[in-house]
Amino acid sequence: MKKKIIVIGGGAAGMMAAGRAAKKGHEVHLYEKNNRLGKKILITGKGRCNLTNDSDVETLLENIPGNPYFLYSAFYHLDSFGLQGFFKDLGLELKVERGRRVFPVSDRSLDVVLALEKYLKQNKVKLHLESPVERILLGNGAVIGIRLKNGREEQADGVIVATGGLSYPATGSTGDGYRFAKAAGHHVTKLYPSLVPLKTAEEWCGRLMGLSLKNISIKILNQKGKKVYEEFGEMLFTHFGVSGPVILSASRHLILTMEEGYRLLIDLKPAMDEKKLDARLLRDFEKYANKDFGNALDDLLPQKLIPVILELSGIDAGKKVNLVTREERKRLCGLLKALPLTITGTSGYNEAVVTCGGVCVDEIDPSTMESKLVKHLHFAGEVLDVDAYTGGFNLQIAFSTGYTAGESICNRE
Ligand SMILES: Cc1cc2nc3c(=O)[nH]c(=O)nc-3n(C[C@H](O)[C@H](O)[C@H](O)COP(=O)(O)OP(=O)(O)OC[C@H]3O[C@@H](n4cnc5c(N)ncnc54)[C@H](O)[C@@H]3O)c2cc1C
Repeated sequence: MKKKIIVIGGGAAGMMAAGRAAKKGHEVHLYEKNNRLGKKILITGKGRCNLTNDSDVETLLENIPGNPYFLYSAFYHLDSFGLQGFFKDLGLELKVERGRRVFPVSDRSLDVVLALEKYLKQNKVKLHLESPVERILLGNGAVIGIRLKNGREEQADGVIVATGGLSYPATGSTGDGYRFAKAAGHHVTKLYPSLVPLKTAEEWCGRLMGLSLKNISIKILNQKGKKVYEEFGEMLFTHFGVSGPVILSASRHLILTMEEGYRLLIDLKPAMDEKKLDARLLRDFEKYANKDFGNALDDLLPQKLIPVILELSGIDAGKKVNLVTREERKRLCGLLKALPLTITGTSGYNEAVVTCGGVCVDEIDPSTMESKLVKHLHFAGEVLDVDAYTGGFNLQIAFSTGYTAGESICNRE
C-alpha cells in the first residue's frame, strides 16, 4: 500500500533510500538542508568519487573495523556488484583502479550525483531543498512526521534519518541525526573523527609539507613501546604532521585512546633489511667517496627529505663521505629504517573522512535499518555506528544501508 515517506538528508544514503522507497510505490519526500543534493559526494575521492570497492561481501566486511557484521544483511541487499550495476543502469560508466577502487570513467564525482538525481526523478521523489529538519515527531511508539526549522510540520507514515555524521561540517553533516536518535530514546556511542590526518610534535614535518612518500611502511607504538599498528603504502607530510592512506587508516586505531601518546616510526626503505640497506649505503658512499656527505644521499631519498635526514642524523653535511664513520653510517641506517615522530593529536572533524561512532546498532534491525524502539523510523549511512577504511567502503555502506531502509520501510504493519 502506498505510504507517505520522509527521508531526511540528501547525501549518498538518503538519495538511495528515497529512490528505492519511491520505486517500491511510496510517496517519498526528501528533505535536504543545503541548496543542492550530494554536497559531500562532490568532494569524495579528491573530486573523483571512489564510490565502492570491486569486492565480494567478505572483503567489504574485512575493511570495516566499525561493526562489520551489522552490515551483512545490507550488503546482501545491495553489494558492490549490485551497486555498480545500479549506476551502469543509470548510464554512469565505471572503471576499477588500484586497490579495486571504483570510480566513474569521467573522473567526475558530479556525475555520481547527477546519476542519483536521475534516479530520484525517474521515481518521482519530491525534493525539498534548503529545508533543514529540526526534529522528528513521535506518537504511540511510532514516528509520525517531522518539524522543519521554519516551524512547519509534515506528517508521515515512515521516516528515514540519513543525516550523515560530523565530518566536514561545511557539507551539511552537522550531527543532527544523533539528536533525532537520542530524542527517540536511542543511544549514540562515543563519537570520534576518523580517517583523519595526525598532528606531530616535530616541526620538520611542516618543512616537508606536500611531500608524498610511496612504498613506505609505518609502525605505531604506544607509550609502553608496544606495536599497535603496522601498514605498508603511501603517506604525505602536511603543515601540522602526516596524512595519506596509511596514516588515515592508522588513525582509526588510535583515536579511541589518543591520550596515550603514540610514536610513529616510518620505514623509508621497507624492501631492505638493515643489513641490505647498510650494503646499499656503502655502495653509494664508495660512489660519492670524495663528495660532501650532504650530497651523498641523492640516489636514496627524495630531494626534499635530505636536509631533514642530514639534520636528524647528526652527521656534519660538510664532512667528506670517506670520513663518515661506521657508527655514523649505522645511525643513518637506523634513521632510514625508523624515522621517528611523536603523535600529538588529530586534525579533527574538519579534516576527518568519517565519523567513528553513531546510533547504537544493537537498537537497529540489521535487515531493515528500522529502529527497534520506534516503529517506522529507520536510519541509514554514516549516522549509524559503522565506519570503514578508505577504498570506497564508506560510500558502499551509505548506499547499502540506504537501499535497505528504502526497500523495507512501511513494508509491513
Ligand atoms: C573529503 C572526503 C572524501 C571522501 N571520500 C570518499 C571516497 O572516495 N569513498 C568513500 O567510500 N567514502 C568517502 N568519504 C566518506 C563518505 O563521503 C561518507 O561516508 C558518505 O558520504 C556518508 O553518506 P551519508 O549519506 O550517510 O551522509 P552525508 O553524505 O554526510 O549526507 C548527509 C546529508 O544530510 C543533510 N542533513 C544533515 N542534517 C540535516 C537536517 N537536519 N535536515 C536536512 N538535511 C540534513 C546534509 O546536508 C547532507 O547532505 C569521504 C568523505 C570526505 C569528507
